[in-house]
Order: sequence, then C-alpha cells, then structure tokens
Amino acid sequence: MDFYSHIYEQDTEIYEALVGEDKREADGLELIPSENYVSRAVKEAMASSLTNKYSEGYPGKRYYGGQEFTDKVEVLAIDRAKRLFNAVYANVQPLGGANANIAMYFALLEPGDTILGMDLSHGGHLTHGHPVTYLTKIFNFVRYKMKDIETGEIDYDQMRKTAKEIKPKIVLAGYSAYPRELDYAKFVDIAREVGAVAVMDIAHIAGLIAGGAAKNPFDYGFDLMTTTTHKTLRGPRGGMILTRDSEDLAKRIDKTLFPGLQGGPHMHQIAAKAVSFKEALQPSFKTYASQVVANAAAMADVYKAGNVRMITGGTSNHLILADVYGSLGVTGDEAEKLLDEAGITLNKNMIANDPRRPMDPSGIRFGTPAMTTRGLTEADSRRVAELMLEVLTKKTPPPRAKEEVIAIARAHPIHERF
Ligand SMILES: *Cc1c(COP(=O)(O)O)cnc(C)c1O
Repeated sequence: MDFYSHIYEQDTEIYEALVGEDKREADGLELIPSENYVSRAVKEAMASSLTNKYSEGYPGKRYYGGQEFTDKVEVLAIDRAKRLFNAVYANVQPLGGANANIAMYFALLEPGDTILGMDLSHGGHLTHGHPVTYLTKIFNFVRYKMKDIETGEIDYDQMRKTAKEIKPKIVLAGYSAYPRELDYAKFVDIAREVGAVAVMDIAHIAGLIAGGAAKNPFDYGFDLMTTTTHKTLRGPRGGMILTRDSEDLAKRIDKTLFPGLQGGPHMHQIAAKAVSFKEALQPSFKTYASQVVANAAAMADVYKAGNVRMITGGTSNHLILADVYGSLGVTGDEAEKLLDEAGITLNKNMIANDPRRPMDPSGIRFGTPAMTTRGLTEADSRRVAELMLEVLTKKTPPPRAKEEVIAIARAHPIHERF
C-alpha cells in the first residue's frame, strides 16, 4: 500500500489490479520457468525518474543533453554484465529477449541468409524461426533436433552434415524448453567448420551461468550471446547482447540496435538491470543458482518415482518438461487448468514428436527459479511435486491441495530475503 500510495489516491481501478497481482503472487506457487521475483531494490530502480529521460545513443555519445546520470547508470550496467558473463562487450539496451535476437540477426545477416537453429518442438524459441514470426519472411531457418528424446542428446552428426550442405551464417544454440546442457564445444566446432558465427541464446539459463550452476558458453568459444534479464537472472524485464571478444561484432550489434531498430533506451530498466547484476555478482547468488538446480532435480525424482515420462529423462537445469498426456492421460491444457485451481501456475507445452495440437499439447513445462527465490528447499520441492501429481491423478484438485499451496507460499514470503 505504501508503495502505491499515490496510485491509491488517484486511480482506484489500477490500484486494485496492482494489489490483486501482489496477492496472487504472494499466495500462489509460481512454477513458470521463465518467471521470477525481483528484489525491492530492482523495483525501486524501475520506479525511478529515469523513465523521464531520453538517452538515444550510447554513453558519451548521445543525441540529447542532460546525460550526467544516465551515462553513469549505463556504464555500470555494462561493466557488471561483462563481469558476470566474462564478456568483453555488452549492449544492455534491448527492450526484451526477442529484441535482442532480432538485433543479433540483423547485425550478422543479409536478407535470405541461413540460420541453423534448434527445432522448436525440441525446445527452441519462437524467435528462432517460428513460422508465425516475420523473421521467417526475411531469413532462412533450418533445424537440428535431438537424436534421442529420452536422453536429450542432440544429433550432432546430422547437424554437421546439414551445416555443410546449407552453409549457415549463424549456428544458433539455446532454448526455452530443453532440460539439459548442450555440448558447446561441438556447436563451436561445427560453426568454425562452415565459417558461421556461433551464437547462444542464454535467455533461460543466464542466472545459472552467472551463478556458476551451468557452463558458460564463452568458455567454449561461442562468439556472441543474447539473453533476457528477467528469467533466472532475476532482473527487470529486458534483454542484453554480449560479445566474447570481437570488437567488430560488438560495433555491428550497437549500430544495429540503435539507430537500426530501437529508439530511446529505457533508462529506468537499465538502472534496474545494473542493480540486479550487482545482486547476481554476490556470493549469495551462487547459492541461489545451485539451489534452483537442486530443487528441479528433487521435483524430477518425484516425477520419476510416479512413472511420469519426462522429456530427456529428467533435468540438469531449472526446468522439467513432462509428458502428462502419455503418462497420466491428462492433456497439457487440462493439467494447466487443474493446477491453476490448486494455486500452482505453469504452462502447457508441446513435447518432441507431440501427437497433439499446440493449444492442447501433451506436455507441461515447469521450473524452480521463482520458488527458489522464495527460499523453498529440496524437501519443499518434493512436496510441491507430490501435490502436483496428486491433483493430476485425481483430476479434481482436492480443496486441501489449494490450502496447502497457500500455506507453503505464505511460509515463504517473496521479500523475506531482499
Ligand atoms: C524468453 C525467451 C526469449 C524472448 O524473451 P522476451 O523478453 O519474452 O522477448 C528469447 N529466447 C529465448 C530462448 C527465450 O527463452
């Protein structure tokens, strides 16, 4: 209420919606693996006066005056981003992950050029060439897939063969619904063999990389990484592009993003990015990142014991993709709705070789970044997984499931830690 005191006085409708969302977040368990809870410090930065400021350009080279403080903020964000990911260059202006990817494509490609990316039904993202995006009108996307859905191993032989045939300009790694780590060295080898730029979209796992709970693709020779800042990295909604060491690539990225694609950067978000990067540089963030992975493994154990098929057989990161239709006879859409009634939020998801349709697929996708921010441990994670299976097996959520979810949520207030 304090935080919204002026909205309360002048705009009751929006006030009620904001308070409603706060309550929804406080009393429910958020298992959407791309969501998280930012700290109060990050929220304060987003609510700052920097939202008033036009800062087109880059630090030291702006098109408007009055940049004494915006320059300071953007330089800090860039420096911290570079330290977090061991990058030589960082552009912190992309408004989101999709914008970062669009800028990356336009910086590296001419219309008609080819990208070799992960098949969307095997875990890739919309912006990696889904036919509904305009990107596919401009560029040519070709796919690689998993060789074995039960282990998640990518078919690297097929990938190399395809790469030699189609001569992509970009070999793109990265995913939104893939629970394993990739063999980065193989990606880089293939990219080098065909003279492509090796790009990794770390949108989902940026926080795991920053916290040392996942490998850093730059250590294996990737040239460029795009990311969001609001998923496991736990910053404000936004995007970022990191370049390992090539000044030429970094310059092309800067020029393509502005003035090529975007207008004025959202400086309040960039301040919030800087604040969240400082948080991610603390030792406590390492503990957080490894707990995210441990909690996901604990949930996978329960699913395995319940004989629920998981794509790739389990998880090595923060997310799980479960074939609930094949294992429990409940569709992804039904599962999403049943769990929603019990106060557990996640999303339906297509699985590889899914016999069902995108609007009602076979799978559900869920993960542990948000619940770990609230302080849930492995024991809590197992209990949540058991509750989920109980709801899905009974096909009507028992009222005490929702009561228990609320009790777990209230025992772990979102801002208890920061
Ligand atoms: C979420 C995601 C994006 C897009 O991020 P937005 O901020 O929603 O635009 C891009 N790539 C991958 C792999 C993602 O998971």
